[in-house]
Amino acid sequence: MKIRISYGTAIQMGLKRGRMLARPFTAYLMTYHDGRCRNNCAFCPQARESNADVKRLSRVTWPAFELEDVLDGLKRGNFARICLQTIDYPGMVEDVKELLKAFQPLNLPTSVSITPVPRETLVELKELGVDYIGVGLDASAERIYPIIKDSLYGWDDMWAFTRDVLEVFGPGSAFVHIIIGLGETDREALETIQRVYDMGGSVSLFAFTPIKGTRLESLSPPPLERYRRIQAAHYLIRNGLARVDELEFDGEELVGFNDLKEKVDPVAFMTHGCPGCNRPYYNEKPGKEPYNFPARPEKGEELLKKFL
Ligand code: SF4
Repeated sequence: MKIRISYGTAIQMGLKRGRMLARPFTAYLMTYHDGRCRNNCAFCPQARESNADVKRLSRVTWPAFELEDVLDGLKRGNFARICLQTIDYPGMVEDVKELLKAFQPLNLPTSVSITPVPRETLVELKELGVDYIGVGLDASAERIYPIIKDSLYGWDDMWAFTRDVLEVFGPGSAFVHIIIGLGETDREALETIQRVYDMGGSVSLFAFTPIKGTRLESLSPPPLERYRRIQAAHYLIRNGLARVDELEFDGEELVGFNDLKEKVDPVAFMTHGCPGCNRPYYNEKPGKEPYNFPARPEKGEELLKKFL
């Protein structure tokens, strides 16, 4: 059986040579499938109609290896967690279960990002050692969801799945992935973030990254200023320090934080995901200021002054 692993994970496992800008604390793995995903998300290199290299997901290259080599690498790599991403194809759930069984002797906490599956499958995943589920909502407005996602699963299916995950795995166990820069307004993105936290879930924010060969290859990534403001608002919402309606909007645009600005900590600008996840350089080119910092930013106070 084969499995894909992110390039940084492969270096950390000693399966590829290269220099790392930040060491991944989580092993990032992806199901291997000889073909593309059966969904057609506009930003995704794995999408059914994309012409992009299938070794890509976002900016990251995912070379394939034999499972036994990756199991050895997992033992060597000193990881705190396994994060298994899936692409959707007939038989994917069976592959995921087989992989989880192979990981079990390693005793590492495991997250799985997966398209909606029945509740009974979630229970099985839990029994196989999974503790967090990534939910790829991606588009944060119902208005744009069908255009961007072109998927077997509609907007309401994603929310019903999030509810199932929270009921099976408990509060905080669903990480809803939201990509900023797909045509949503600030207000739409933040209302969706609020909805996730109101349900008891969590949000992982990503910045849209154009990939050649995808439907959105010509769209620009979001301005860093906009992304920082949304990160700050996400920080306030997730820590219960503000609700969306307490923030300052000009129409649909987030323009300020009223007197809540002082409550924002620079950890707002870090990757937010399962425990042990730092997801280095997922959206960003090395050498440029990252959208999501893999650790607390050194010049955090300066960032707060500059962007808020
Ligand atoms: S379901 Fe996931 S892997 Fe498939 S096209 Fe959409 S984002 Fe890509």
